[in-house]
Amino acid sequence: MQSFFDFTKEKLQSSLVENGFKRYLADQLFDWVYVKNILSFDEMTNISKGDREKLKEFYTLSELEIVVQQESKDGTVKFLFKLKDGLKIETVLMRQNYGNSVCVTTQVGCNMACTFCASGLLKKTRNLSTGEIVAQVMMVNRYLQKAQERVSHIVVMGIGEPFDNFENVIDFVKVINDPKGYQIGARHITISTCGLVPKIKQFADLNLQVNLAISLHAPNNAIRNQLMPINKAYPLEKLMEAINYYLEKTNRRITFEYILINNVNDSRENAVELAKLIRGMNAYVNLIPYNAVAENDYQRSTRIEEFFTTLQNNRINCIVRREFGHDIDAACGQLRAKNEGVLKK
Ligand code: SAH
Repeated sequence: MQSFFDFTKEKLQSSLVENGFKRYLADQLFDWVYVKNILSFDEMTNISKGDREKLKEFYTLSELEIVVQQESKDGTVKFLFKLKDGLKIETVLMRQNYGNSVCVTTQVGCNMACTFCASGLLKKTRNLSTGEIVAQVMMVNRYLQKAQERVSHIVVMGIGEPFDNFENVIDFVKVINDPKGYQIGARHITISTCGLVPKIKQFADLNLQVNLAISLHAPNNAIRNQLMPINKAYPLEKLMEAINYYLEKTNRRITFEYILINNVNDSRENAVELAKLIRGMNAYVNLIPYNAVAENDYQRSTRIEEFFTTLQNNRINCIVRREFGHDIDAACGQLRAKNEGVLKK
């Protein structure tokens, strides 16, 4: 039995043929599941009864079970889902002024070990399958359907390093972007990476029109080494080279994420150095006020305004990111497996 959500249209076509179905059934199934949001084969009335019964033997349409659903005053909703093997993951829905954005998780735990991040405290147990990522969106969509709304944007910024689960994440994008399926435009999807250089190049070669965000967080190697162990494998010179490759190949703009941590990376000099590092690139900087977590001593910067102004004065496009779901611990970087009892409150 395989999860229906694991299949891109192309892969579903091959699988259907292998299992003795007609190839065109893939289009019908994508329509029922991703357009009509029907998650039971029995309700797919334009498919023959025989095929419906047989489909049930090969594919399942249940993937995630809701364990907790927490709603914030600002409309943010945090879902805790249980996977088939009992592991739990979190997904967050954010109500933006431009639509409904879902932040999906790509791995159970994370191996990148960024020193400021609570997620990395739980080492990676496994990658999520394509279906487990797709199902997060579909579950949130079911929730929104009650209000006759839909998921319009995806940020791949939940727990895990998406490029450490490359194939499944790319297939996830293909499923959710399918023109006869759920159809979230590539430009409404953003993948965030800590900087796995070979994967950035591989991603550029795919030319998907999906937005790429880089968790930069430092203007030089000394600071970045301290914050992100990945920088030792792929220092800034290598990272910038890969980003320039991406920019040339795709002609797209790149986003740099920069969390502002008190007295670590938030001085005026840091801002000037950052401006120098990225000057002339087709890029903008997303400044993220750091969310203090109990697991380390880092604090939110008190110089966000100054940093922002210094970048602007140095002709760098930048914004300070809005925060969501503070009251339910859903703020960026705070997705954590409290339910597993591993992390402190
Ligand atoms: N592994 C990917 C995506 C997941 S993290 C990446 O590194 O980009 C999503 C973003 O949240 C990253 O920019 C990460 O650095 C940031 N983040 C992690 N912990 C945070 C915290 N406590 N406060 C603010 N941002 C945080």
